[in-house]
Amino acid sequence: MRWRQGPRMLAAAGAHGSSLDIPTLLIVAVSLATLLGLFLILAWAQQREVRALAWWGSAYLIGASSMAMWNTSTPALDMPRAVPEALTFLACGMIWSGVRLFHGRRITPLGTCGGALGWLIVNLFTALQVGSVTRIALATSVVAAYTFVIAFELWRERRKSMFSRFAAFVVPSLHAAIFLMPIGIRALLPAFAPAWITLLALEAIIYGVGTAFIVLLMVKDHHVHIYRHAATTDALTGLLNRRAFMEHARDLCAVRGRRREPVTLLMFDLDKFKSINDTYGHGVGDDVLRIFGQIAGSSMRATDIVARLGGEEFAAILPGDMEVAHKVAERVRTNFEVAGKVVGEYAIGGTVSIGAATSHAAVTDVDALINRADEALYKAKRNGRNRVEAADDLPAPESADLEERGKIAYFPIRKRAARRTQAATA
Ligand code: GH3
Ligand code: MG
Ligand code: MG
Repeated sequence: MRWRQGPRMLAAAGAHGSSLDIPTLLIVAVSLATLLGLFLILAWAQQREVRALAWWGSAYLIGASSMAMWNTSTPALDMPRAVPEALTFLACGMIWSGVRLFHGRRITPLGTCGGALGWLIVNLFTALQVGSVTRIALATSVVAAYTFVIAFELWRERRKSMFSRFAAFVVPSLHAAIFLMPIGIRALLPAFAPAWITLLALEAIIYGVGTAFIVLLMVKDHHVHIYRHAATTDALTGLLNRRAFMEHARDLCAVRGRRREPVTLLMFDLDKFKSINDTYGHGVGDDVLRIFGQIAGSSMRATDIVARLGGEEFAAILPGDMEVAHKVAERVRTNFEVAGKVVGEYAIGGTVSIGAATSHAAVTDVDALINRADEALYKAKRNGRNRVEAADDLPAPESADLEERGKIAYFPIRKRAARRTQAATA
């Protein structure tokens, strides 16, 4: 079997001078790391907001220089062993800091340089023999610590980015393979020790190319996440926007409809908002909208979907019948009455009117449900504002042609504008 030949090949490589020429391999590894480092820095120059790319690129360049220094056959680079090792740890620290920065966390100089500085200090004040087991164990621990924290950073970000989860496994595994395995071989299997540098160079090549790909995919993933967020979020309030609301509402209605469970839609419209803008200015108006968004979001459960549809109109859809939704609506109304009383230094006295409509249907037409809730909302406006009104409940339908019936029976969306004018004069 082919794989059984592996150790023999390694031993042969060590004993007779490898068929893989070590200096050539090292030159390839150093050149590749340098090129990838420059490539990452170039990628950063094109997207300056991703500062992590600069950190990773620099880490590659530092890693390349430390590998070049390991090649002690070059007389000019004949220096204390601790220096290239410390540079390797610095590269690890910079990769870690890059990952933290990428995920919007704080970085510290100690975290970045701690391993390298510690290593230099230990080497300065102790007489650690090059190649001794203690020295190897210590170096291994530093790399293991960085490997662990990099994996941790990627892992705890798994909710935000699917790719980070994959990267959390692959990057540290490659990292461990490149640094820990050769050191382990040297310590535990001294017979293969001469092949160590060959392995290191080969793995550095694999690691370098592999992680550069992963890093770029992570950045792409990050951008997709940002664009998706921007496309589904209302910038002023941070709530979902109309498009995202409609998507989520259709999904919720489909799930609830299959189980024959009700959903209730709430429509919110801030009262006399035009006069708030006219009296206190647009900026204060925006503050009121933000406060309402915050109140609406925090007054509901995680399963409820809340959105700003546009202007001073908001909507929510929740699993449950009118009784449940009415309580939620009342909670939002009273919380906003309190929070909207004084905004900044102005006694605004902001309030909200709410309309609610429930569907028990197997197939719910979300537009029709919005129309019914909207109709109830304008009943609330007509009845004096700062109140919740429910749409008349439809009888639970039996047949499958609910959607068609809904479209005919419910209020057409284009009539909303006309109704608004009526309500404004009320
Ligand atoms: P009603 O109680 O009948 O709802 O009265 P209203 O004044 O709230 O109703 P109307 O629909 O006439 O006014 C809505 C106002 O909302 C008009 C518009 O200037 C304002 N508006 C829309 N979008 C924004 C926004 O993003 N920021 C601010 N500050 N105002 C907005
Ligand atoms: Mg309005
Ligand atoms: Mg209004």
